[in-house]
Amino acid sequence: MIKSKLKNIGMSIFAVMTKLANEKNAINLSQGFPDFDISPKLIEFVNHFMKDGKNQYAPMPGVPELRKMVSSKIEKLYNCKYDFESDITITVGATQALYTAISVLINPGDEAIIFEPAYDSYAPSVIVNGGKPIYISLQLPDFSIPWSEVNSAITSKTKLIIINSPHNPTGAVISQDDINELERIVRDRNIFIISDEVYEHIVFDGNKHISISESEILRNKSFVISSFGKTFHTTGWKIGYCAAQKILTEEFRKLHQFIVFAVNTPIQYAYAEFLKDEKNYLDVSSFYQKKRDFFLELIKDSKFKPLHSKGTYFQLLDYSQISDKDDFNFAFELIENIKVAVIPLSPFYSRQNDNKLVRICFAKKDEVLYEASQRMKKL
Ligand code: PMP
Ligand code: GLN
Repeated sequence: MIKSKLKNIGMSIFAVMTKLANEKNAINLSQGFPDFDISPKLIEFVNHFMKDGKNQYAPMPGVPELRKMVSSKIEKLYNCKYDFESDITITVGATQALYTAISVLINPGDEAIIFEPAYDSYAPSVIVNGGKPIYISLQLPDFSIPWSEVNSAITSKTKLIIINSPHNPTGAVISQDDINELERIVRDRNIFIISDEVYEHIVFDGNKHISISESEILRNKSFVISSFGKTFHTTGWKIGYCAAQKILTEEFRKLHQFIVFAVNTPIQYAYAEFLKDEKNYLDVSSFYQKKRDFFLELIKDSKFKPLHSKGTYFQLLDYSQISDKDDFNFAFELIENIKVAVIPLSPFYSRQNDNKLVRICFAKKDEVLYEASQRMKKL
């Protein structure tokens, strides 16, 4: 008999909805992944490095060429230094980086502040390590962080605050004021930060991504996590990284080496090569802004009301003019009735929630977005 460590947790909503979309032959705007081709250059690089014999274990922290490129990208964009040898670790996507960093920080009884709606891996990773998630709801309509509530939630057991900007599922982004508030809270306390920045290269309307690493106070207490999957349309390759100061990285690698040891070698070399042309990541925001605006134009005469998405490849839609069903039932009905799969917002919350919001992913071919919008306009 196994004593479950995650008693009340079922299959991830992303897996559930994609499976259902496939079974029902629906347009899948649910799980976040692009449906278009990736750069042929990147495929060429992977081929090249495979043929070149880069097929054995990579060094445990990652291929140095890639760590150097990540370190210089961070320095260029956020004006701060992470030593490629001691501070950068290549991981199996952001998911493993998040799990590893949470495991480093959380001991039984520790509390972790998680903002809701929250990406689905945070809380289970805290719970598996014996920690207690302390949930704080972001404030509608712009899903801002209620800092006075954060202040009141801090106890002697608080060990971790998880930040995610640009934010999945809402598309919200943090501001300099948020950074200032966070600095004030953690400065003199034994509290650490995990900053999930996987959508750092998908920020709209001329805004610049604010990384936690830009603040010296926060940098010294943070694991900053990103994923090449989002930036290079390669979610299936599952490679990401964690940047953290040496003493944090030392603990991170102690766990990393026994969770995965090392990550896919030829793909790491290929990403290192691909990162040499900065256009490959700097142009991603405008690419996705066009997709967002294209989709918004298509649905502007529908009864779905979009909330403002400032980043990520997600768009929240208010369906209250269409149905008073809860978001789960509404999403299941959509698949059945118009064969479009979306993600209900409730699974991103620990508590009952009835905001009448669903999330769509617009990282799809224009013709797919067009067809989905025609079906959605029928409602
Ligand atoms: N964090 C957030 C906010 C995400 O949306 C995702 C994408 N699934 C991840 C982490 C995980 O990234 P990866 O696929 O690189 O593990
Ligand atoms: N991040 C993606 C999303 O939010 C999916 C990740 C996953 O399937 N685990 O849809």
